[in-house]
Amino acid sequence: MIRARRVRIVATLGPASSTRERIKELHAAGADVFRINMSHADHPLMRELVGFIRDVEREIGSPITILADLQGPKLRVGKFENDKVELVNGARFVFDSDTTPGTVDRVHLPHPEILRALKPGHRLLLDDGKISLKITEVHEDRAEATVIQGGPLSNRKGVSCPDTLLPVGALTPKDRSDLDAVLDADVDWVALSFIQRPEDLAEVRKVARGRAALLSKIEKPQAIERLDEIIEMSDALMVARGDLGVEMPLESVPGLQKRITRAARRAGKPVVVATQMLESMISSPVPTRAEVSDVATAVFEGADAVMLSAESAAGDFPVEAVATMDRVAQQVEKDANYEGILLAQRTEPESTGADALAAAARQIAETLNVAATVCYTTSGGTALRVSRERPQKPILVLSPRAKTARRLGIAWGLHNVVVDETTNLEQLIALAGATMVNEGLGKTGERIVVIAGLPLHTPGVTNFLQLAFVRSQDER
Ligand code: PGA
Ligand code: MN
Repeated sequence: MIRARRVRIVATLGPASSTRERIKELHAAGADVFRINMSHADHPLMRELVGFIRDVEREIGSPITILADLQGPKLRVGKFENDKVELVNGARFVFDSDTTPGTVDRVHLPHPEILRALKPGHRLLLDDGKISLKITEVHEDRAEATVIQGGPLSNRKGVSCPDTLLPVGALTPKDRSDLDAVLDADVDWVALSFIQRPEDLAEVRKVARGRAALLSKIEKPQAIERLDEIIEMSDALMVARGDLGVEMPLESVPGLQKRITRAARRAGKPVVVATQMLESMISSPVPTRAEVSDVATAVFEGADAVMLSAESAAGDFPVEAVATMDRVAQQVEKDANYEGILLAQRTEPESTGADALAAAARQIAETLNVAATVCYTTSGGTALRVSRERPQKPILVLSPRAKTARRLGIAWGLHNVVVDETTNLEQLIALAGATMVNEGLGKTGERIVVIAGLPLHTPGVTNFLQLAFVRSQDER
């Protein structure tokens, strides 16, 4: 199925979208990647959703991408005696390791190591930043704070510590068990929440052993501080604006979105812009003008993908939300300014064979007005470098590995097709032409640029570029 846009759409699955039929509708409306949020899905539900997506994939005959999102070290306060208290400005409030229900003076913070990492002056933000406190004193088993901005606080509300480097890795025991389960279910991508340092990724990579690619959600100031190293260690990034907007001042989020998107594009790692993109569509069939403009901004900036969260997971209009995103993206990509804005952010090829060939392929494609660049790849590495160039002409990716084709579904502009393994060049050129025709991307007599690595199936080598023709059936 050819999409009439280059940017990809990620749709989160949830109660509003957990049937096979609905997943099929969402895909038809434009969803390229399905996100399973492990904060809400247990293992049997996750496996059921993966099964539904693979059923739809089989039915439509093109690869679909699955992203499993691990909850990460999301901190929460314990429970209260009467389920809820009211914190007033200026009051003293204590976080401690006592598991008895909380009062208006204190509450349990379930992670003793966090208590020890807090320092006087550090801020604590509760309930998505609605309540804020400043730490005044820290003891072995408790941290005392002053309420800066009060309000109602109820059981198990989230806690953010934007000023504190937390002494936790990226994987809680729950994440560790979820990770094993999603790898077993053969998902394509694993998203890691609240990562703080490049070492967090190394830890997960050891467990994943290449079975899934790793996407780092950038939602903490500590991750921003070490952004380049984290990008280097990641296969993809997410601008996770929800928690980022709690941990950092809200007004800094747009600038950070640009910075993360540009850094990821420069590195050639796919980047997803996420959260509240069409938030009002949770309960309305039409979005606000501001939301349309927000989606458009991400597309103009050259993000690889834009994401729906509650809009597709729990809203009243999940299919409409995907269709709206699709329409906005198509319109932006047709806009007279799109090409120029995209181009302004293109950076020099890195000094590798894959980059040199990807840049050359783009130039040839544009000079000769070819139908597409066709890229034969086993690992997917070459295709990502071609995508990094953001070429005007279509990119057709042929891979003998379904895993690779699925994984690439998150990246800008890649149309991925699983093909039989090819062993010689003659066959490869014929296959490229035939797939162009089959997929509706080209006609006999049109030109294509084919790039690959020789000998075929040696991952990491890109050294072959040929200008070829789509030949007719009899000539093949
Ligand atoms: P979440 O991540 O939806 O898992 O919280 C995205 C975000 O924080 O923006
Ligand atoms: Mn988050």
